[in-house]
Amino acid sequence: MLEARNITVNYGTRKAVANVSLSTKSGEVIAIIGPNGAGKSTLLRALNGSVVPAGGEVLLDGNPLRGYARRVIARHIAVVAQEAELRFPVTVMEFVIGGRYAWSSAWGWESEQDVEVARAILRETELDEFAARLMNEMSGGERQRAVLARALATEAKVFLLDEPTANLDLAHQATMLRLVRSRCDDRKSAAVVVTHDINLAAEFADRVMLLKDGQMIATGASREVLTQELLRRVFDLQVLVDAHPVTGAPRITPVHGVVPSPSGRGLG
Ligand code: ADP
Ligand code: MG
Repeated sequence: MLEARNITVNYGTRKAVANVSLSTKSGEVIAIIGPNGAGKSTLLRALNGSVVPAGGEVLLDGNPLRGYARRVIARHIAVVAQEAELRFPVTVMEFVIGGRYAWSSAWGWESEQDVEVARAILRETELDEFAARLMNEMSGGERQRAVLARALATEAKVFLLDEPTANLDLAHQATMLRLVRSRCDDRKSAAVVVTHDINLAAEFADRVMLLKDGQMIATGASREVLTQELLRRVFDLQVLVDAHPVTGAPRITPVHGVVPSPSGRGLG
């Protein structure tokens, strides 16, 4: 599928991503966690070819990503960027059908099937009542759901999602991640999700990668990676890790203003 091999990305003299490797597997959701400026968005941009690494390479199905046409990449990789750009006043339905563009035979002519797919996805994302609404007349969270709906409409093999739940209410955070999760379970897609919600990541991701200052600090199952020591190292923050009472997934609670005890007892 999609693979980054030892990639380094620079903006001028600033190194944003340093020697990071990541390999998506069908059926797997990978969460990327790290502080602001850690290089998370840059890593996703490199994975979809919108920035070119200064070192290392990105491969799609074993071939260099830069050898693929934009339209072919769009068919394989669906992106939800951190800041969605909307230049034209389009309805939610038109916007979601736009996700089918990479598959359509001629520009601007969607098939009956494209419309069907879009309708189904609007239902799944609980947006059917908004179908005729203009994108710029939606709340931030509603619009974000539409952006994710459009990504789901592409039926891509790989989803790259940059903070897809950042503006969503509690229920919709779970609904949207469940949709991504089930897309990976049923259709054997893969997803890379950048999120600040560590608890949601613990629940939905098969694998977690911690990034700091452009470097990969750790990667593995959430139980191995979401530990007090690693999270303290990455966020300079004291956290308490216990088990979620229902799911058993690691549950992270930040503890503010507590000095770590040298004995390692208590919150150590
Ligand atoms: P994150 O998504 O983890 O918050 P980014 O990948 O957006 O981090 O940014 C990583 C680093 O690169 C930061 O230091 C940021 O300031 C810098 N950066 C991001 N985008 C650009 C850009 N277009 N030009 C120059 N520097 C950038
Ligand atoms: Mg970012």
